Amino acid sequence: MTMAVAKGIETVPLFLNNELTPSAATRFGAVFNPSTGEQIAQVPFCEPDEIDRVIRAAQDAFPKWRDTPVVERARVMFRLVALLEKNADQIARIVSREHGKTYSESVASIRRGIEVAEFACGIPTLTMGDTVHNLAQDVDCETYWHPLGVVAGITPFNFPFMVPLWMVPIALTCGNTFVLKPSEKVPLSAMRLGELLAEAGLPAGVFNIVHGDKVCVDTLLTHPLIKAVSFVGSTPVAKHVWDVGTKHGKRVQANGGAKNHIIVMPDADMDRTVGALQSSAFGCSGQRCMAGSHAVAVGKIGDTLVKALAAGADKMKVGPTDRDWGADMGPVITREHLNGVLANIEKGAKEGAKLARDGRGLKVADAPNGFYMGPTILDHLTPEMHVSKTELFGPVLGVTRVASLDEAIELTNKNPYGNGAVLYTRSGHAAREFKHRAGAGMIGINVGVPAPMAMFAFTGHDASFFGDLHMQGKEGIMFYTQQKMIMSRWHAEGSASSGGAGEFVTTRG
Ligand code: NAD
Repeated sequence: MTMAVAKGIETVPLFLNNELTPSAATRFGAVFNPSTGEQIAQVPFCEPDEIDRVIRAAQDAFPKWRDTPVVERARVMFRLVALLEKNADQIARIVSREHGKTYSESVASIRRGIEVAEFACGIPTLTMGDTVHNLAQDVDCETYWHPLGVVAGITPFNFPFMVPLWMVPIALTCGNTFVLKPSEKVPLSAMRLGELLAEAGLPAGVFNIVHGDKVCVDTLLTHPLIKAVSFVGSTPVAKHVWDVGTKHGKRVQANGGAKNHIIVMPDADMDRTVGALQSSAFGCSGQRCMAGSHAVAVGKIGDTLVKALAAGADKMKVGPTDRDWGADMGPVITREHLNGVLANIEKGAKEGAKLARDGRGLKVADAPNGFYMGPTILDHLTPEMHVSKTELFGPVLGVTRVASLDEAIELTNKNPYGNGAVLYTRSGHAAREFKHRAGAGMIGINVGVPAPMAMFAFTGHDASFFGDLHMQGKEGIMFYTQQKMIMSRWHAEGSASSGGAGEFVTTRG
């Protein structure tokens, strides 16, 4: 959204050279508290000149940071972890206010982010190269992992603090400098990351924040000083980022959208499965790329499952998350997003889906202008329906009934996305089959949201990922480094010349 400067409303600054810096932008977006529907800030939409200045500051800071001993870079991360722990409550409250997550969801997301920073504390060991002594006569070979330079991160609205942390700790400890562009819908908590990194002793210019819309993203994607781009967001934008970034010679890792299927076998522990499905589908108001948004009931359990899910959803307390009262589920991000989810439910109903629970029209007395809807269950979906193929990104669970595990796996694999797929069962054989045949990058066996922890990569497939090296884990380190191989020959004094292939070293003769 572009709008004029709003009077009396906080304007979000940039983070440049370790300082909160006012932007010179003349276009702005509105930041809302989704719990109340009120505008709480305005975010500048930076123009290319301003973004160029920030990128150049990051470039100026690069040589010194690259040459800072790796253990010292790791120590900044140790201090950041301590500061994140200390400030987790405050950050969680900012996340809940700007995003609408419940307090416990915000805390959990921050904990997940801290785990990446903890992982990055091990960077001296994680970036150890290989060496072979005397590979050929008098020749030793070794590899080092070097940083790339200035790298950019572009993040989505649904995890305002955690997703930047998927990228920043690994990129920085590898020796890169960073320019972050948080989602314009939730730019507030990310600013705390800048401040805490500065407090942890990160030198000025190493981590910076710009704000904006497509203009900002496209400037980062085409700027000659940006060496790599990490993106998380919807599939069409991920594809755009991949296309434009790679065309401009950058390394790109771009995580896209998802439609994650949860298959329930007749032998599954029904109580546990229902609880897990409810939390996977409706947690964070369904605004998670790993949300189990489509249940697949195998055999004759469909009616029992849907009845239990609807009863569980009826008990969920939906309301504001900017105050302490015990909400189970908050609002969705904006009025526009809410209207989009509601329109898709309407479309599903017209296509023949049965509304086993209808969350539309929910009124929250304490916050009448918030962006609310209740948990919704669309039953009897068929694969050709729009709601079966589309990522709705709201608290909506689709249910399809099939006769066998084979049919369930086939249905899951026809879906164009490939983020998560989950099986609930007591059968080791069914689990084994599913692990090998399910066409998604992150598989859960009796785990409703199989989002990997920091030491494992976030391995989306198909339309959920564009690139070669995923975020987090070893792949994350490889993405932010380039390897250098050094071949050295030190002859003994007075030894004869090797002759033969001369300077072209071979291991034969
Ligand atoms: P989005 O694609 O609308 O926005 C993501 C980022 O791209 C934002 O910073 C935004 O400013 C920018 N952007 C938006 N439109 C653009 C355009 N036309 N050109 C260039 N840049 C643009 O995504 P969102 O709505 O903020 O986030 C929700 C989406 O993110 C969902 O699809 C969700 O599945 C996905 N997501 C994926 C993962 C994952 O790891 N696969 C994780 C979290 C969220």
